[in-house]
This record gives sequence, structure tokens and C-alpha cells, in this order.
Amino acid sequence: MSSNTPSQKIADLSRLLNDYNHEYYVLDNPTVPDAEYDRIMRDLQALENDNPECKLATSPSQRVGGEALSSFSQITHLKPMLSLDNAFDDEEMADFVRKLDERVGHITPNFCCEPKLDGLAVSLLYIDGVLTRAATRGDGLVGEDITVNVKTIKAIPLELRGEKYPTRIEIRGEVFMPFAAFNRINERAKANNEKPFANPRNAAAGSLRQLDSKITASRGLSFYAYSTGVVEGDNSPLADNHYDQLQQLKGWGIPVCPEIKQVNSLEAMISYYQDILSRRGELAYEIDGVVNKLDSIAGQDKAGFVAKAPRWAIAYKFPAQEEITTLLDVEYQVGRTGAVTPVARLEPVFVGGVTVSNATLHNRDEIERLGVMIGDKVIIRRAGDVIPQIVSAIVAQRPDDAKAIEFPETCPVCDSEIERLEGEAIARCMAGLVCGAQRKEAIKHFSSRKALDIDGLGDKLVEQLVDEDFIQTPADLFTLTIEPLLNLERMGQKKAQKLLDSLQTSKVTTLAKFIYSLGIREVGEATASNLAAYFKTLDKIKEASVSRLQNVDDVGEIVAKHLYYFLKQDHNLQVIDQLIEAGVSWPAIEEKSAEQLPLQGQTWVITGTLHTMGRSEAKELISQLGAKVAGSVSAKTTMLVAGEKAGSKLTKATDLGIKTLDEDGLVSFLTQFS
Ligand code: NAD
Repeated sequence: MSSNTPSQKIADLSRLLNDYNHEYYVLDNPTVPDAEYDRIMRDLQALENDNPECKLATSPSQRVGGEALSSFSQITHLKPMLSLDNAFDDEEMADFVRKLDERVGHITPNFCCEPKLDGLAVSLLYIDGVLTRAATRGDGLVGEDITVNVKTIKAIPLELRGEKYPTRIEIRGEVFMPFAAFNRINERAKANNEKPFANPRNAAAGSLRQLDSKITASRGLSFYAYSTGVVEGDNSPLADNHYDQLQQLKGWGIPVCPEIKQVNSLEAMISYYQDILSRRGELAYEIDGVVNKLDSIAGQDKAGFVAKAPRWAIAYKFPAQEEITTLLDVEYQVGRTGAVTPVARLEPVFVGGVTVSNATLHNRDEIERLGVMIGDKVIIRRAGDVIPQIVSAIVAQRPDDAKAIEFPETCPVCDSEIERLEGEAIARCMAGLVCGAQRKEAIKHFSSRKALDIDGLGDKLVEQLVDEDFIQTPADLFTLTIEPLLNLERMGQKKAQKLLDSLQTSKVTTLAKFIYSLGIREVGEATASNLAAYFKTLDKIKEASVSRLQNVDDVGEIVAKHLYYFLKQDHNLQVIDQLIEAGVSWPAIEEKSAEQLPLQGQTWVITGTLHTMGRSEAKELISQLGAKVAGSVSAKTTMLVAGEKAGSKLTKATDLGIKTLDEDGLVSFLTQFS
């Protein structure tokens, strides 16, 4: 028999789908996106329709979900828990309504529209109002007993409220994991180097089927009911339509999704779908479509069921957010802060409503975590406006010529060294002053008010100057002349002259401002000023080792390394030299004599409110006299300045016998030196 006969194809597709089912339902570890699964299922169904004689008795098109796990005891459902048929476009929705109309006639035109929650179906049995048993859907006939775990879900009442509930009622609904809990759990998994969950559905399934219910309890699962199963006891008849039944459940304390709506036409179902689709990103939980149900229970009974789904309900699925494509190559982009980001070039694929041909790979750790190679088939996800991501590589389909991804050693834009600090995921190009990718931001920062304060050089003008290739580095600013400037758009004689004048003025600065203006990562104004005060000259800063740099207040290992690597790049040093040659200068910082530093070696702390001066001014004045100003009181503290409403620091200082000064005391102390 050739492998292309319909019967062989049916057998192949059935086997493939059964494998995917096992991975999805039993292992909670799908290897292909749902869209791929749905496509194969449709192919199989089409083949089975055309060749009914070849259909296997065990065809996955006849079955609901997976088999029951052996570690939980099994529960046979009192009424089978079915799946839903799918519609993928308006046409298929119209078909659904047409067929229903033929079968049911005109009982009622009402439909109930509900978000299709992406979690897993459970059945809750309440006897005399008490939650007695909970089960997963399993294969639809037999599920797993998950009562203990379900009892940990706070949204599910252990006892129904009110009195008029049926003596025995089975409530069906979806257990799901809200995004907030999903993100929290995945962050934690990544931090612990564990495999994160692929999506909230998987996370919910994995959390619910835990043998240790404490784990389930910690996962933040939630629940919405969407139907009833077996109902007995006539003290409270259920309403004759689905929507009102859900309201009754709500009255008994069972959570029901607030987005549920009653409508009365195909058009209204389609606009409900559009509306929910447009608000999908704002919902607190993942949904993958909407479910439309004939509202009348009598109508539902008349419509009946097919093998695995009711005829009176249909899931109108959203466009897939996950798809398969091929990773063609990896390129590297350098951001304006020098961050080097690997970007996946993909075989274009339609996903989440757009054609995607690039996806971010974030950083080197992410590439390692994914274990992805060039040439791999990858699952890509685009949810809402979020940048497309690679979720996983399909390693089982890896081609022989797949290539490892090699992270570059030097910047792809300017060829300078790339720095990656230990413990930091992001690699950065360190040539901040010259790298083409960082140029504009570097020059904007250089000329900003707290740096060289070049009046008249706004962000727009910097961009214009760089775009027109007038300048490439901050040093080039000082080579500008009036004639070429006049050729720029919106640049008159007066404006150009003003720019040249303020460039002249800006040349006179301070060492602290100059260091700040270089835009070294994490070197803000305060750090720059501490560096200047400690080293006094630029040369000494350039020569300092990482450990010596850490002697400076507020400079820890990371900042020290940023400084060190920045000042090691020839490109950067060249720009610094050019700036100095162009005339940028600052007054020398004199070494103060011991007399000028009467508080040298002392540590002061300031607390409470000061009225004559701010705390930062007091700090400045005290530091100028040579003291170190610390943030907390310890045995090493020499003096505590206690302003109004001083609290725990004052108590601690008194306990430790440390001297204190109130505001008046501080003012008179400082006057002796002014
Ligand atoms: P389904 O998820 O498409 O729809 C039925 C389920 O929807 C119900 O059982 C219920 O749990 C849920 N549901 C959510 N909101 C509901 C509501 N308001 N009313 C009623 N039901 C609601 O069907 P399924 O049988 O659970 O799963 C089949 C789908 O799972 C496939 O179409 C495919 O997308 C995916 N799948 C993927 C793989 C894979 O390997 N990627 C494997 C198997 C299945």
C-alpha cells in the first residue's frame, strides 16, 4: 500500500494527532501550536468525510481530550463532558446558525455568548450544597478525582450560598490561571532556572494535577462556571434558558464570567466576537475565542449532540497567536543605550493577525534557555501588541544542517568591545560616544542641562545634525561652523550664531559635569561628582582600577566596571582627547589642607526635617568639611544631626551614646567655617 492512499494518510494523521493529544493533555507539554493541531484535525476530518470506510474506530476526531492520569483515582462522569466544535470565520458561524435553524426550528432566536476561557474543564459536584467531588474532564467519560486540589481554589465555594439550590447539582466550568499569577510563577521559574510554562492553560493544568495540593494552593488558580451537568432535587427548578441558569449559579455563590451576554442574532454574535477580540489584551485571563450557545434548554435538547460536541454550541476561535515557522538567521541590533539584542529572522508567517518575519530573542541567556538553532522549526507567539517571541524550538524536527547561534564578541555596528557583566543578562557595546547606534542619544545627553548645558541644541537639532552627517561624536560639535549650518532646514543666521556662541560658553565646565556628560552607564550626577571629588583629575580616573574606583562613595562593583570598560575603549578616549583639544576645560580641584577639612575621618548622619536648609544642602556643607555623610546610624557614626520629628535614628543614636546636634546647633557649628 502506498503511503499516499487515503487510508494510509488517515492512519498517519490519526497517529500524529494522538501523539499531540498525549503531549497536550497527559504530559501538559505540547510540542506544536494549537493552530497546527487544528489544521491537521481539519485535514483528517476532511479525509474521513470523503473516505468514511477508512475512518479508524479510535480516530482522534471522535474523542475528547486525553486519558485520565493514573496517579489520581478515576471518576466516571455522570453525564459525558464534551468538547466544542470550532468555527474559524463568519461564514462558519453562519453555517452553524443555519443548521441549528433547520434542526430546531424557531424555538427562540436567543444565544448566549461567552468568552472561551483557556484553562481546563472541571466538574464540581455539590450535594446538599456542599462541594463533595471535583473531577477533570479526562477523555470526557472518565476523569481524575481532583477534589483535594480544587478545594484549594479560593474562587470555588466549599458550600453554596442561600438555600434554594438543588439537592444534587453538578456544576461545570473552567479552571484557569489569571495572567498575574502566570507571570509571577514564570518569573520565579526563570529565576530558579526551571522551565517556565508555555502558556496559562498549561500552567493551570500543571498546577491542578499536582499530587501535593499545597503546590496547587500556591498557584493562584481561579474558576468560572459555564454550565450544569446532572441536577436532582426539585426544590429549585433551573431556569429554562442557559443565561438565566448561569445567573442562578451566581446567586448560589459560584463565579460566572462577567463578560457573558445574551444576544438574538448572528450579527450580534459576530459583533460580540469582534468586541471581545479587541479587548482581549485587557482581560485578566487568557481566552482563545468565544463560545456561542443556543440559549433555550428545550432547543438544546432538540439539537442534541454529535460524537464529541453538542450541536447547539460552537467555539468561534480567535486567529492563532502561536504558529510554526523556520528560524532563518539571527542578527544583532544595537539599541540607543548600547544593548546588543539578538533578533530572529523568520520565514514570514501569519500570526496574531499580522505577518511576522522578525522576533526578539532578548539576550544570550534566552538563546541558551530555548536551546534553539538556526534552521530549526520554531513556535512563535504574537499576543496583542507585544513584540513577537520565540516560545520554543521543535527539536524533534531539527534539520541535519542546523547551525548553533554564536553571540558576537564585538559590536556589529562599530566593532568595539561588547561588555557583559556577570549576573547581567544584557550585553552592551561600550563605545557609547562613537557607536553609530548610540550616537544621537550620546550627543543629546552630552548637551543636556546637567551636562555641558549647550543652550540652543535641542533634541531635534541633534537628530538633524547627525542625520545630515555634520557630526558623529560630541567632539564634532566644536568643529561646527556657520556656513554649513545655514543649509539646515529651519536654521537662520541668528539661530546658528546662537548655537555657536553657546558651544563656546559650554566649554567652561566642571570635572563632575564633564564626567556626567560622557553618558557612562549608571554614572549619574551624584556619582560623577563623587568621582571628581575623590580623584580630582580626569587622568587619575582613567588610570584607576576597578577596585580603586570602588573606594568612591556610591560606586559599587557594577558601576566601577561600567566606568572601567568605558574608559578602556580607544574610541571613547579619542573623543575625550578631542574635546579637551577643542577647549573643553574645568577648574583644577585643589587639594584641601587639613585645616579646611576639620571633619575628615568622621561619619555624620542627618535625620528629621531641617527648616533653614534642605537635607541635601546640609549634606553638601558637611561633606565639604571632610565628613562622610551616611544614611544610617551605626557604632561608627560620629554625629547625628536631628531635625524636627527625628524618629528611630535618634533613638538608636541615643542608645549607642552617639553625639547629636539639633538644627540650631548645626547652624552655629557651620557658621564658624563660613
Ligand atoms: P476546546 O478547548 O477547543 O473547547 C472545549 C473546551 O472549551 C471545554 O471543554 C471547556 O473546557 C472550554 N471552555 C472554555 N470556555 C467555555 C465556555 N464558556 N463554555 C463551554 N466550554 C468552555 O476543546 P478541547 O477538546 O478542550 O481541546 C481541543 C483543542 O485543544 C484543539 O482545538 C487544539 O487547539 C488544542 N490542542 C492542542 C494540541 C497541541 O498539541 N497543541 C493537542 C490537543 C489539543
